[in-house]
Amino acid sequence: MRKLFLKIISVLGLMRLWRYAMRKRVIILYLHGVMDQGVSSTWVPLRPQYSRKQLDQALSLLSRHYRFISIDTARQIIAGEIAAIDNSMVLTFDDGYLNNWKHAAPILRKYGVPAVFYVATGNIEKREPFWVDRLDYAIQAAVDSDKEIVVNGQTITLKADSRESLTRSFKAMRDLAKTGTRGDEEMRDEIDQLIGSLESESGSSLKDVFEGDDWAGVMAWSDVQAAANDEMISVGSHTVDHVRLGEVRDDRASSELSVSKSVIESKTGVECQHFCYPNGSYNQRTPAIARQHGYRSAVTVEAGLNKVGSDPMTLRRIHLPDTEDELQILYVASGLSDAIDGIRKALSRRRKG
Ligand SMILES: [Zn+2]
Repeated sequence: MRKLFLKIISVLGLMRLWRYAMRKRVIILYLHGVMDQGVSSTWVPLRPQYSRKQLDQALSLLSRHYRFISIDTARQIIAGEIAAIDNSMVLTFDDGYLNNWKHAAPILRKYGVPAVFYVATGNIEKREPFWVDRLDYAIQAAVDSDKEIVVNGQTITLKADSRESLTRSFKAMRDLAKTGTRGDEEMRDEIDQLIGSLESESGSSLKDVFEGDDWAGVMAWSDVQAAANDEMISVGSHTVDHVRLGEVRDDRASSELSVSKSVIESKTGVECQHFCYPNGSYNQRTPAIARQHGYRSAVTVEAGLNKVGSDPMTLRRIHLPDTEDELQILYVASGLSDAIDGIRKALSRRRKG
């Protein structure tokens, strides 16, 4: 007990030091969907979801230690246009889920926390679910006994003896589809076919329940328009078709960047200045292409904090941890967890080298 107490005290001390040393940096947090069981009874995704209760708790906690600012203010600080605000934090949501607007926005308003919604315009336009959600639904509907499947040239067995097995199968299939050096189009074609065959086996598809679905539904243009005109929310682009820009030719990357921006602007009447790389994927040329199209910031999934002078087109972010442990939330959101991981990795490399 005494040991645990001392441990907590020393972690708190270290965190206080860290927060002070890093007070001029800008922390950008990210989340995807915010939703919980009990609201939607249609289905429950295998993919872990961040609940409304967790968001409420995290914002209540973090707003006591940090000052939440908009992505516009963050960009100005990073560009050196305005003075840094001590302990500033930005909250971002990827993908444009309907639940961001329906279930997360009221919590943002409760704590006065501004946020960015990065939307994929093609999914909004075509009323189409993201393939990860479609796969999640299809596996649950079709896999009722062990099934062998070939993904990306490798055979894997989807196991169905429990929900845990199904979850592992879903993750294995998703990760295998994304690995390797093949281009994004090739990957998408294959995964589309695989999901299609699971759907025809079960005779059901996420598309049947997608519209208005609290888990996987995406915002309609009327929601995006309302969000863009809400003073708490900025709407940024997440490409047209959620394309991994580092894995496609420059002309495709360029059109994804420009079309999504102009569609958002014409639908909302608000300039779209901010971008988020799907899956954090970009190559050496992508940031310059994004800049040419008029974006003023772009966020990645590389962990870490941003400082004055950081490249605004490759901003670092931290994923809000899926926990209710307040010490853990602060430890991760402050960037200390990633910093310590970085030191550990560097040390083990040195030992090996
Ligand atoms: Zn995404």
